[in-house]
Amino acid sequence: MEKIKVTVWNEFRHEKSNVTAKGFYPSGIHALIAERLNQEPDINAGIAALDDPEQGLSPEVLEQTDVLTWWGHAAHDEVEDKLVDRIQKRILEGMGLIVLHSGHYSKIFRRMMGTTCLLRWREAHEKERVWVTLPSHPIAAGVSPYFELANSEMYGEYFDIPQPDEQVFISWYEGGEVFRSGCCFNRGLGKIFYFSPGHEVYPIYHNQEVQKILVNAVRWVKFRGNGSVFPFLGAQIKIPLETIAEKNYHSAPIDHPN
Ligand code: ZN
Repeated sequence: MEKIKVTVWNEFRHEKSNVTAKGFYPSGIHALIAERLNQEPDINAGIAALDDPEQGLSPEVLEQTDVLTWWGHAAHDEVEDKLVDRIQKRILEGMGLIVLHSGHYSKIFRRMMGTTCLLRWREAHEKERVWVTLPSHPIAAGVSPYFELANSEMYGEYFDIPQPDEQVFISWYEGGEVFRSGCCFNRGLGKIFYFSPGHEVYPIYHNQEVQKILVNAVRWVKFRGNGSVFPFLGAQIKIPLETIAEKNYHSAPIDHPN
């Protein structure tokens, strides 16, 4: 069986500087997620971090990645624009992208959405109740109608994203806010899933329902391209399928760039 190749990318800064984050994720959030994904027989997950050579994502690594997962927070601006260009191109060619928690404000997510991706937030260790809003969706397979995280960072509406193609989860918070916490998008040949739980000072990626969602999401967004962004026909169709009747119409020629 051909395994789904996942690259679990992490900024990997908080887990070095914050003792609580380090306690829950001694080798980093990415290491825990990759370890969990690798328990699945059809998934082969590797890790990458911002401070690795080429920011963890060389052209070779990206070329071999079917699914990229992204966790970032404090250093979004350090991600090089040319890397964002390469990730975008690879998504349009069919690579899946899973954006986690504060990755909502990453360069790549904002690029793929085209909006500010701003949201409301509060850090009060409050309860989050995650509701399934599309039980037929593969990402919700096996997930209970709702589950609770005892402590979470509140992410609230309005969340400035385009209307998701599919809304799989909505969260409610102890303080009263709601949030579109699980959103699916199609961009080019690629699929994108945004999932908001995952603040670094809580053991959220240890939660079994969250882990189930990540495994499901990998399978749902997995690479579905065929090597080209616009593969079906050339852009300019010189020879039509049917004969077009000659028209007695003359216009000045337009210069085309190609
Ligand atoms: Zn956070």
